[in-house]
Amino acid sequence: MRSDHIRPDRRTLLKVALGLGAATTLHLIAADPASTPSRPARAAGTPPAAAAGPPAGLPGRPPAYRLQPMTAGSPPRFRPARPPVRTRPFEELPGLGHSMVLSFDDGPDARYTPDILATLRKHKVRAMFFVCGEMADASPNLLREMADDGHVVGNHSWSHPLIPGLSRAAIRDELGRTSDVVETVLGTAPLWYRAPYGAWNRNSFEIGADLGMEPMAWTVDTLDWTTPGTGTIVSRVLDGAAPGVVVLSHDAGGNRSQSVEALRRYLPRLLEEGYRVTVPQRV
Ligand SMILES: [Zn+2]
Repeated sequence: MRSDHIRPDRRTLLKVALGLGAATTLHLIAADPASTPSRPARAAGTPPAAAAGPPAGLPGRPPAYRLQPMTAGSPPRFRPARPPVRTRPFEELPGLGHSMVLSFDDGPDARYTPDILATLRKHKVRAMFFVCGEMADASPNLLREMADDGHVVGNHSWSHPLIPGLSRAAIRDELGRTSDVVETVLGTAPLWYRAPYGAWNRNSFEIGADLGMEPMAWTVDTLDWTTPGTGTIVSRVLDGAAPGVVVLSHDAGGNRSQSVEALRRYLPRLLEEGYRVTVPQRV
């Protein structure tokens, strides 16, 4: 049975997350759920407009020799999109204010994903979907639906293996094939990935970075894969609700009716409590 149920103690997670928050150079902004959903315009590997290089000297203006960088006159330097290689995943998202992130793993699955998408659409919020390549390959239309609604589509490997048991080449294959499917269907490769079972290793961090992705874990595990009852899933989300929290649920990998129904109940409650349910955007 699939699950992402390998989690350290919650206090450890929070400590780690605080450390990450202090050390991170990655800027995260909350997407505005009220704005028109759009996919990231800039694919990984494309330099930002700001990397166009220093302006050329203007006629009549004395050349600023001392201020001229040594690269002046040469072609703009390409700024690689490869993010710094992390040794731990993000486990919460500080700096988003009174916001929370909902994430759904293992899909898409035609039996459950459409209902989850419908609930998110009804409440005009965005979420993160960490998809498995083999599932995405089988349901490209659901992948398009996610992106069209402004959700973030992340990489959850091709076949949901335990990453630490794989060779470097196999990890690259699992992550690379999945990114390829997402890019083929959506036009942009994923910017985030999540290791199955939350089992990361150094190779996965390095290969993920090579593929232009940041590692994202979670703060609150609903343990919905154990089918504990809809009410229990709802309670776990509401009890764990706090600014910056990332919630883990599943839209595939087994019978996810409880996950579907739980979302219908807890999402309006979170919104009533004043949370913005949103997604991070890498800038
Ligand atoms: Zn999973």
